[in-house]
Parts: sequence; C-alpha cells; structure tokens
Amino acid sequence: MPMPCTKKSLHPMQIITTPNDIQSWAIAARNQNQRIGFVPTMGYLHEGHCSLLKTARQHCDQLVLSIFVNPTQFGPNEDFDRYPKNWEGDLDRAKTCGVDIVFHPDAEGMYPTSDKPNPIEDRVHTWINALHTNGSHDLLHQLCGQFRPGHFQGVATVVAKLFDMVQPHTAYFGEKDYQQLQVIHRMVDDLHVPVEIKGCPIVREADGLAMSSRNTYLSITDRKRALCLYQAIQTAQRLITNGCTNPLRITQAAMECVQSATDRIDYVTLCDAKTLTPLHTWQAPSVLAIAAWIGTTRLIDNVIFP
Ligand code: AMP
Repeated sequence: MPMPCTKKSLHPMQIITTPNDIQSWAIAARNQNQRIGFVPTMGYLHEGHCSLLKTARQHCDQLVLSIFVNPTQFGPNEDFDRYPKNWEGDLDRAKTCGVDIVFHPDAEGMYPTSDKPNPIEDRVHTWINALHTNGSHDLLHQLCGQFRPGHFQGVATVVAKLFDMVQPHTAYFGEKDYQQLQVIHRMVDDLHVPVEIKGCPIVREADGLAMSSRNTYLSITDRKRALCLYQAIQTAQRLITNGCTNPLRITQAAMECVQSATDRIDYVTLCDAKTLTPLHTWQAPSVLAIAAWIGTTRLIDNVIFP
C-alpha cells in the first residue's frame, strides 16, 4: 500500500495541450519519484468532479486533471456538438482543488489524422473492446451498453490513451458512472495496466439529484421531474432496509417512481455489482442502476447495496 501523500505542489497550475508534452512531463515527474494522481473529465466541472480532485490531491505529489470531450464515446445522435463548456470556470475550480496540471488536448492531438481523416472513428486503428467478464456475459452489453453502442469502446480507448500519456500511479473515477468504472477496472486488470483505480462516491445536490454536467440542459420544471431518479433509489433503499429481497419487487417499485415523471426509460435494473448481469435472486454486493430521459436529456443514477 502506498503511503498517503500530503505534499502540495508549490508551482502554479500549468496547462499542457499535446500528448507528447504531457508524456515528457510525466516521465520527468516519475524520474523525480513524484506520485501522479489523475482525474479524467470532459469538463464543465461541478462538485462531483471536485470531490474526485480533492480525494486525489491527498494521495499524490502531482495532480493531473484532463479536460477532453471525447468524440469517440458519443453516438451519431448524441450531444457531442452541444456538450457544455466553461473553460474559465473549470480553471478556477481546478485551482481551488489544487490541480498541478490541466491536460487539455484537442481531437487532432488525441486522434491524429492519418490516411483516414474523417469521420474521427476511422482514425482509430486500435480499439480497446475486449471487455468480457466470464465468457457468457459481457460488460459492454449490459445497462448503457445496450442503448449506447460503441460508447464504452470509446471510453476504454480514450482512457487507455490518456493513461499512456499521463502515466498516473492512481486514477480516480466517480461511481456516478458505475458501468464506466467497472469497464475501466476490467480493462486495467485484463491488460495489466499499472494504474490503481479508485472509485469515488456520487455527489448529489441538496435535494438528491446526482450532479452531472448534463443537468444544465434541464429547464426548471424538468429539473424537478429529474428528482424521480433519486426518489426511485430511496424507494429501493427503503424496501431493502425493510427486509425485501425480491429483485422483481425492488425494480418494479423503482420503475414506478421513474415512470411517474420521465419521458422514456432505458433501464431500471438491479444487477450484480461486478458483472452487471441482472439479478433474479437477491445477492450482495449489487447495484440498482437507472437510465431515463427527461425530454432530450438522458440521466443516469445508481445506488450500491454493499
Ligand atoms: P465526466 O466529465 O462527466 O466525464 O465525469 C468525469 C468523472 O467525474 C467521471 O469519473 C465521473 O464518474 C465523475 N463524476 C461525474 N459526476 C459525478 C458525481 N455527481 N459524483 C461523483 N463523481 C462524478
């Protein structure tokens, strides 16, 4: 177990924009025995991102935040073109959280033009997509994988690239994106990637809505409707606390809450916490995972039953 590190960098925050430069920086930092902590994000930072940064800050010498809206993890009809941005606000938050390096590459740098300039997916010759769990089940095809084909392949590929560039000792991911966290765990195990992965708890607004950059898409009335996801989680928690061990009953009760205020449900599933396969009989650890639409905004949330 590495010892926690409380050393804070005295240097001002630096912005690095090219893969070569961050890699050179990382090699130099490692040569000086610096522990590198890494938080990958798509920007438009909120308190959820900050909680990852603050946790990372306590355990590393050099804290790297990446801000990159990764095109390969968005489907053709998704919100890549309108994904929210707030560069100045992000820098302020990063400084407050003690970030040393903001890595802010562009798509040309991350996916260099070679013989195939467009679309960007065609520039990737090597994808990370071997994310099988135990042969019959496959993390890629559970939960969001059914509704966002190619999404986790894009996530795993960009995270693998970022790891090679930033060379972190430890990387921090939110449990908010629970399936993403499991995919990264699986990738790191399967490929023997020498990066320790830490999951961090979901940060919620005062009324329970899970913080998300996409919450900015919600109108005031839609924001109120979005609360039904948290209400579903609370309903499931109450049932389980009261001794219910029937997955069907638990998911049905949660489903009723979500149905009451959303426009479309992708899934409300109680699943194995590691393989994400749906449960027919109760077991722990498990996760109740939800994805639903309010208008054109897709929201996800979950709760872990340890
Ligand atoms: P994103 O910028 O949405 O790609 O998120 C970057 C990282 O922040 C991911 O590891 C997310 O899981 C994490 N994250 C986003 N929202 C939250 C939240 N409400 N609580 C904890 N972590 C979060």
